[in-house]
Amino acid sequence: MIDQGDVGFLKIHTAGDESPEIQWMNREFLMAPDRSRGTWIGFFGADLKLLPGAYPVVVKIPSTGFRRQIDVTVRSKDYGVRRLTLPKELVDLDAITLERVKREAAIMKQALEERATVPHWTGPFVKPVSGEVIGPFGQASIINGMPRSPHSGVDLKGERGTPVVAINNGRVVLTGEHFFSGLFAVVDHGGAIQSMYFHLDKILVHQAEQVTKGQTLGLMGATGRATGPHLHFGIRINGARIDPVPFMKLNESMEPR
Ligand SMILES: [Zn+2]
Repeated sequence: MIDQGDVGFLKIHTAGDESPEIQWMNREFLMAPDRSRGTWIGFFGADLKLLPGAYPVVVKIPSTGFRRQIDVTVRSKDYGVRRLTLPKELVDLDAITLERVKREAAIMKQALEERATVPHWTGPFVKPVSGEVIGPFGQASIINGMPRSPHSGVDLKGERGTPVVAINNGRVVLTGEHFFSGLFAVVDHGGAIQSMYFHLDKILVHQAEQVTKGQTLGLMGATGRATGPHLHFGIRINGARIDPVPFMKLNESMEPR
């Protein structure tokens, strides 16, 4: 059983060297090798707004015909509400800005919907910055009195210029400067896991670059729609918006390799 916006973890042992495949929410992706040979790990996520109910997760090893299905119950979760007051020009957008925002949303969506690649990540994932959460995940947003999209990541505390590091090995699939996100980087870790880093002061990697776990991607800032320096940090698993906090807790309990 998992909550909306939560993450599931799978670990299996096999006799061969073939990566088992996970099927979840009509997506297929491979598990990553764990420390010992024949042990495989993988994550799957339930989107913040996924309809509560039972969903099958299937693990398959194609060459051996192995197939196991587990029904996962997704429960609804109330993440609460945040109320923000922002300068009017950052909320009530003029036609040109609205066009820009739509264009940028489409670019981001396309990058996030890329087919899952083979896992580049090795467990455990690390934190992008050490700062505490100052803006929790999942809150419905009321901005200047109007309902807006829920908060799809966490806001982490830090000073302008704090190095922001890649949470695992991967490939930088998108960088840019968007109206809401400011200077940002998106990293694909393979195995249907992506991480997003927004409001950077400076980006220190380029698109298509391979990065390693702990490598500095950029510096914390307040670009885009931000009330002050912080890192907006998001994780997508199989396209689902998940809460980075339980994901990171799960990783903290894993032994480093
Ligand atoms: Zn945020």
